[in-house]
Amino acid sequence: MAGPLAADSFNNPEATALPVYRGRFAPSPSGPLHAGSLVAAVGSFLDARAHGGTWLVRMEDIDPPREPEGAAETILRQLEAHHLHWDESVVWQSQQSLAYQQFLANLHNKSLTYYCDCTRKQIKSRANRYDGFCRNRNVSSETSAIRFRNDNPVKLLHDRIKGSVKPDHDFVCEDFTLVRRDGLWAYQLAVVHDDFHSGITHIVRGEDLLEASAWQLTLWKTMNTLGSYDPQPLPDICHLPLVLGPDGRKLSKQNHAPELNLSQTRLNLVHALHALGLSPEPELTNCHERDILAWGIANWKI
Ligand SMILES: [Zn+2]
Repeated sequence: MAGPLAADSFNNPEATALPVYRGRFAPSPSGPLHAGSLVAAVGSFLDARAHGGTWLVRMEDIDPPREPEGAAETILRQLEAHHLHWDESVVWQSQQSLAYQQFLANLHNKSLTYYCDCTRKQIKSRANRYDGFCRNRNVSSETSAIRFRNDNPVKLLHDRIKGSVKPDHDFVCEDFTLVRRDGLWAYQLAVVHDDFHSGITHIVRGEDLLEASAWQLTLWKTMNTLGSYDPQPLPDICHLPLVLGPDGRKLSKQNHAPELNLSQTRLNLVHALHALGLSPEPELTNCHERDILAWGIANWKI
């Protein structure tokens, strides 16, 4: 039966062949956005829009002790104030626990996980990085972390900005944690699970996460082999330069970077464009946020 949809796709045979772009901005609500996190938000937004893609927001709220009350809502308000409008419902990692549990069980069923009760101090006293000490120890689950048996690590990255990157060998080979000793989900497990299930095709974020991409792509490839999920192509990765404070250190919540001033959203956006290597005329600051972003999309080169 040929309904209107079928007729449309028949008239446009290339419709299904168009490359899909799904990008995301994934802040952790450990505090409000600052100038550095705005650059990551704007960078991922412009890249998605310049590719005619979909842009999602995911709240990485899996570390309650480090999340001041209301920070997540503040972040969403800050994005809206800068006219960074997302396309689908916000994904809240705090609501994904059952899915993470299933993911963990799927890994466990393939013998890809093990318990580890090593303290940070014990690990440091043995080696620079975790040395797989508990791989065959059959540690009990009480107060243990769960680690990934990292037997086939991705060792070479292809980043759209940085080109070919070979992170430290010991780092990429480390059996990274999936569940922390305090019982909270580790970042790597949550981020890969959610990117995979949201069908993310392009990851654009700050370069402090470049090396961890090796672990994440390893986990993604592993997901493809579990037999539990429809395989997904590895995402394209692109790591943006970090914004440094006056002291030369990365702007971050830990360094007490000031929260974005919402009375100067246009100026904030123009500063973000500069940080992304674009050179707008100063007059752009007088334009509407929507037009500043449109200028960014038109001039996006990465
Ligand atoms: Zn251990």
